[in-house]
Amino acid sequence: MTGQHVHAQENHDESPSAWRDVDRYFTESLVHEDEALVAARRSSSRTTMPNAEVAANQGALLALLAQIAGAKRVLEFGTLAGYSTIWFARAVGPDGHVTTLELEPQNAEVARENLVRAEVSDRVDILIGSATESASRLIDSEAAPFDFVFIDADKPSNPQYLAAALELTRPGAIIVIDNVVRNGAVVHAQSTDPRVHGVRSVTEDIAAHPNLDATALQTVGIKGWDGLILARRT
Ligand code: SAM
Repeated sequence: MTGQHVHAQENHDESPSAWRDVDRYFTESLVHEDEALVAARRSSSRTTMPNAEVAANQGALLALLAQIAGAKRVLEFGTLAGYSTIWFARAVGPDGHVTTLELEPQNAEVARENLVRAEVSDRVDILIGSATESASRLIDSEAAPFDFVFIDADKPSNPQYLAAALELTRPGAIIVIDNVVRNGAVVHAQSTDPRVHGVRSVTEDIAAHPNLDATALQTVGIKGWDGLILARRT
């Protein structure tokens, strides 16, 4: 680890080496991951879901999407160690705000340390507890509309999270849902995996919604074979 440019090369998954090599090439070439981001990613070993954070190039993609959308208020389902949260907090800038929802107090505590280290804790609220309940409270309190939502918590609840996101956003808002390909398992309608059903149900909900434009992209890389749904409220 040297200087300001520190990169994400410590993954322990079994993705094909060519995918990892290409991720490494582009991440080293294009993605600036500073000490605070590296520390946040490493600290996921102290959470309940080690290595479940997005890859560095995916964090950069989320930040770019938020900036392209002109987002100032971001809502995140699933904080873990706050790795993606830091990318969003930096993307919205000092006058922006991120609200991130996390079930596990242990993870929230690790995230809080990381947000302080990254000097963005003043623009982030971590709401601890079930994301469904936290989102309901935001709806009940008539929280100001969000511009960008990242859904990355427990996958069976994706349909509830989309429903909440639709109540908490303005027209033009962007909704990104992570981990929707799951090594190709998404096409197995008979799967007994509730996470696959969560992805398939939310896909059906988006398809049926009159005010959502959406697409999905497969991704390969250091995190294996997966993908994301990108939707925009019209
Ligand atoms: N977005 C993070 C990142 O990229 O750095 C990774 C989030 S990790 C994939 C999923 C997180 O969702 C975990 O921290 C987990 O504890 C949390 N989670 C799981 N079920 C939840 C629930 N019902 N409500 C809120 N958070 C939940």
